[in-house]
Amino acid sequence: MKMRLAEIAKALKITAGENWEDIIITSVSFDTRSLQPGALFIPLVGIHDGHDYLNRAIEGKAAATLWQSDHQAPENNFPILSVTDTLAAFQQLAKYYLAKINPQVVAVTGSNGKTTTKDMVAAILETSFNVQKTHANFNNQIGVPMTILGMEPNTEILVVEMGMDHFGELDHLSRLVEPDVAVITMIGEAHIEFFGSRDKIADAKMEIVHGLKEDGVLVYNGDEPLLRERTKKLLQDTRTFGESGNNDFQALNIVSDEKRTSFRVACWPEDNVTVPMIGSYNVNNALAALAVGDYFHLPIKKMISALTTFQATANRTEWLIGKKQERILSDVYNSNPTAAHLVLRAFSQVPTRGKRFIVLGDMLELGTAAAKLHAGLAADIDPKQIAEVFLCGSHMAALQQALADKFTPERLHLYASNQKTQLLADLNDLIEPTDLVLLKGSHGIHLEEVLTALC
Ligand code: ATP
Ligand code: MG
Repeated sequence: MKMRLAEIAKALKITAGENWEDIIITSVSFDTRSLQPGALFIPLVGIHDGHDYLNRAIEGKAAATLWQSDHQAPENNFPILSVTDTLAAFQQLAKYYLAKINPQVVAVTGSNGKTTTKDMVAAILETSFNVQKTHANFNNQIGVPMTILGMEPNTEILVVEMGMDHFGELDHLSRLVEPDVAVITMIGEAHIEFFGSRDKIADAKMEIVHGLKEDGVLVYNGDEPLLRERTKKLLQDTRTFGESGNNDFQALNIVSDEKRTSFRVACWPEDNVTVPMIGSYNVNNALAALAVGDYFHLPIKKMISALTTFQATANRTEWLIGKKQERILSDVYNSNPTAAHLVLRAFSQVPTRGKRFIVLGDMLELGTAAAKLHAGLAADIDPKQIAEVFLCGSHMAALQQALADKFTPERLHLYASNQKTQLLADLNDLIEPTDLVLLKGSHGIHLEEVLTALC
């Protein structure tokens, strides 16, 4: 981006000091560790107060700063724009910049699969458009404006991931970006602690249509009755995807090998689609992405070719090689019951000459349902397919109990979350080059520490 401070002030409906109007801003930053020279510093107030870091922003050659008016103004002569609330101003500036660049917008939400679908959508659209997408997982009230303000001026389509764990968040983000296409990947149990039921989660996800343009389209998982019910009265157009026959984009003949999943789309009987990932859930993510590409009239063959070579963001069902040459399926980015069931099923079917080990960390934010949902994973852990089970975290005690009649104690291990060194040592003793290891747990359990040590 490149804007005069006067233009930024105007976008925020304030004025810049006369001497500062011609200062050129080339980026925005709320974090002095990654601030680029020429940036507008946005001091946000959270656990830390960004205003305390102004000197570091100046050392990093910030060109100016926003300043929340309830804070004592700095005594130096550094250019400031005084605003009531720096986060609200940051979002307002993003809205202005979005209108200025005016790309079409695809917004992706859902309990699982947002990042993967966002990456697949971008891979498909990049074959024909200048696309900007959410970097990594920056999908919240700060990440979305950051994504917008990071847009190149020639951006034609913005693909933005939107996360939430409370009512109102998607409403706000959707109204901020006013999507042309909104995508809901699925409804799971993630964050059920805050919502109380899947019904309420579906209500919260549907907020993504609050800012959807009148001539926009909602692409959603049509196998989810909670979404079907809620879209009946929607004024905008809809497209559905899923495995059942009443979807606009239906997957047929799903076949997986160790690295890829292939399928056909019922409405395109001639063509076979392959994604370089295992897990039937990735078929749904790919279908959503194909439905978006179809909305933009992209040729089928181009879309299929983009999906074949698409690169997922790290640690989403990603295969890695360990120090002993074992193959590790890393799903350590996050975990919740729906995703854990699906990945356990997929992992159990991966062919191997060796043994399969699973390392599962606690699934967090499940509230009072936690014990039942952890125990429920036992249904997808078969002692004929899985050699040993390593559980990590206090909630996993419920799964240990549920597995006790299928696995002898020698094959079933439980560790506290601060006993990962022991877990690693025990696992490492067993691993041989032909073996497969699955690692999956919630972010807060930090199974990536085990992953790093194994690799
Ligand atoms: P977050 O809320 O943490 O941003 P996300 O919604 O972006 O997560 P991804 O990062 O794409 O989701 O995937 C995280 C994990 O969720 C994957 O590694 C996989 O285990 C599972 N997953 C991905 N897609 C789906 C899907 N469509 N249905 C169910 N589970 C899925
Ligand atoms: Mg994500």
